[in-house]
Amino acid sequence: MRQLAQVGDVVLEGDGKQRLWRLRSPAYALTMGVVGRGQVAVLDWQNPATQTQWLKSLAPLFGFAMTLNGVPVTSLQPLDDAGAFVLADVGHEAKAGRLELRFRLRHEWLGVMATVSFCAFDGVPMLETGFTLHNEGDEAVTVSGLCPLFLTLHCAAPLTVLTLTGGHYDERFPPSGFTLSEHPLPDGASVTLECGDAGRSSQKDIAWFALGKRDDEGIMEGIVGGLAWSGRWRSVLQREGETVTVRMEATEVTHRLPPSATLSSPSAFLVPFVGDWDEAGWQWHRSLLSVCCPPTPPDFPWVQFNTWFGWTTRIDAATLRREADIAADLGCEVFVVDAGWYDGCGTGDFGHGLGNWVDHHGKFPDGLRAFSEYVHRKGMKFGLWVEPERIDLETEIAKQHPDWLAKRDGRIIGGGRYGHLCFGNPQVVAWFKERLAKIVADYEVDWLKWDYNIAYGLGCNDATHGHQDGDGTYAHTQGVYAVKAFLREKFPHLVLEGCASGGHRIDFGILRFVHTYWLSDFTHRAANVRFHLTGAWFALPPRYLNTWVVHEGTMVADFRSRMGGAFGISARLCEWDEGTRERAKRAIAEYKRLRPFVLKRRFLLTLQPRSLHSWTVWQFYDPATDGGALLAFREQSPDERLTVRLKGLNPDARYQLHDADTGETKTLTGIHLLRDGFFLTIPEQGGSTLWWLQRGG
Ligand SMILES: [Zn+2]
Repeated sequence: MRQLAQVGDVVLEGDGKQRLWRLRSPAYALTMGVVGRGQVAVLDWQNPATQTQWLKSLAPLFGFAMTLNGVPVTSLQPLDDAGAFVLADVGHEAKAGRLELRFRLRHEWLGVMATVSFCAFDGVPMLETGFTLHNEGDEAVTVSGLCPLFLTLHCAAPLTVLTLTGGHYDERFPPSGFTLSEHPLPDGASVTLECGDAGRSSQKDIAWFALGKRDDEGIMEGIVGGLAWSGRWRSVLQREGETVTVRMEATEVTHRLPPSATLSSPSAFLVPFVGDWDEAGWQWHRSLLSVCCPPTPPDFPWVQFNTWFGWTTRIDAATLRREADIAADLGCEVFVVDAGWYDGCGTGDFGHGLGNWVDHHGKFPDGLRAFSEYVHRKGMKFGLWVEPERIDLETEIAKQHPDWLAKRDGRIIGGGRYGHLCFGNPQVVAWFKERLAKIVADYEVDWLKWDYNIAYGLGCNDATHGHQDGDGTYAHTQGVYAVKAFLREKFPHLVLEGCASGGHRIDFGILRFVHTYWLSDFTHRAANVRFHLTGAWFALPPRYLNTWVVHEGTMVADFRSRMGGAFGISARLCEWDEGTRERAKRAIAEYKRLRPFVLKRRFLLTLQPRSLHSWTVWQFYDPATDGGALLAFREQSPDERLTVRLKGLNPDARYQLHDADTGETKTLTGIHLLRDGFFLTIPEQGGSTLWWLQRGG
């Protein structure tokens, strides 16, 4: 095969005569070719680092499966006279760190063209897959079950699947949200993941898995995958003998594709890794940050003050000016006014007035702009909460536009006095682009928090909106993306925070548009927050793990428990005593020092705790400087001592460890820390210890 293109460490080779193509990087070598009556298959899939062969016979293209006119289709299915997709031509595009290989496939009878894409990226092991259908025929076709990840692999070794639940609100311990589960995958077994009935993408599970080959030592090598979709979805991983298949698809989408029309699937991401689950998480994060997450401003994630847990809707300019004075003094970098700032919202339900989206003159007599200017003068950024997709049906805007409301079988989707807006209606999308842009400009907003507190169920099927009766969730999701994309483009420096009653819409589709994500509304107890941070870390880069200190208690360990991602405070600062404010100030300074390490590699030196009697130990580590920190919590463990083996260090180097609380310093070799471990002591239950780690000494 001869080289057709190269982008950094990714190479595309091809042989036009043999009709073979190979996409390779240090993490994969995928060979694709033409078989049968002209269909395209993956012929070979190797990991160059380990020589592992993930395929023993050919498999369908990973990025292409759906149902067409009721017939299940892949690049190799069907083989009967329902008609196959055969190769029309192959193209590629190389630009800005990415190399895309595209197969154009023509349906034998229907006049439908499919473009199936494999996108590879320089410097990271991620592959992005997906497809677009274009109807070049004379008759409409019906498409459903858009599946951008239909993976086949062959493996004789034992396999384990790692999965993660979504962001449930749960006061128990261990909580049900962000729970990691390891599932063995023996012959005949399957694992099903899904969004849940409410229709928000991570109400039940996160659209993510890691699949690992296991031996006596643990996980050795595997594949991480996820779906870039914020609507309804489902995934099934199953094993039959040595054959493993993984399906991840957008569900509840049935679209009649008329002649000349186009429909695109969501994308899916795949990352091969070599090593253990920590390595899987690190490669996944590295890839996501490089490929799809928006860039962030310096010193991000900023330390936040948020008004919600302290003040709920009982906010006004005088109260918040006093809070802003204290927040600035503590070292907060952004002051976020949460729900309740808009016209129509009193001191009760924050849903009242949703849809008005102008400031409440009673609460802000000089206008919200004046308060924003006050915050800026204090040296902080200004943040503001919105919830565009829900509307108070008693507002004028709702009464004027009944056709903006999402409906299922003629009934408004929502409950009580609230309705779900249909972003499948282009008028709604246009209105929110304009209105949100006005909010950002008028109030000089640096940080916009986009919340979503309403179930969508099966979605809107009102075909008068401009979408079809079977594709309401698809159209709504695309509409939400369009508004976010518009804001990102119009305000390149605007920070977007995602939120959906906590973590009910965290997925790799929304990650393209938001810089951080509010993890869970149950942020009250330190042990639960650490549990969430430990689990969610595997699927989400650290800056997306936004948690705060609220009114639970404000001891050193409480603050440190929120330092595993983005850090914030949401409490009545004016009611904090001097001692608490002093601890907060020190904690914020500590977090700012820890932040560069938090954003880099992490090793979980203890398992996700299943009881309050377990320690939690995180090692933050920057491979570039060979430095970092160890942060440990004892919770209610009866043991005041624990030895942990560090990871990732250079065995031959010497490291200095410095206790942030006592000032004690120890110098130890890498090999000692890796093999014999490091001895941690926390004298009191509920306490913590923080050790800075640096090379030298
Ligand atoms: Zn609709």
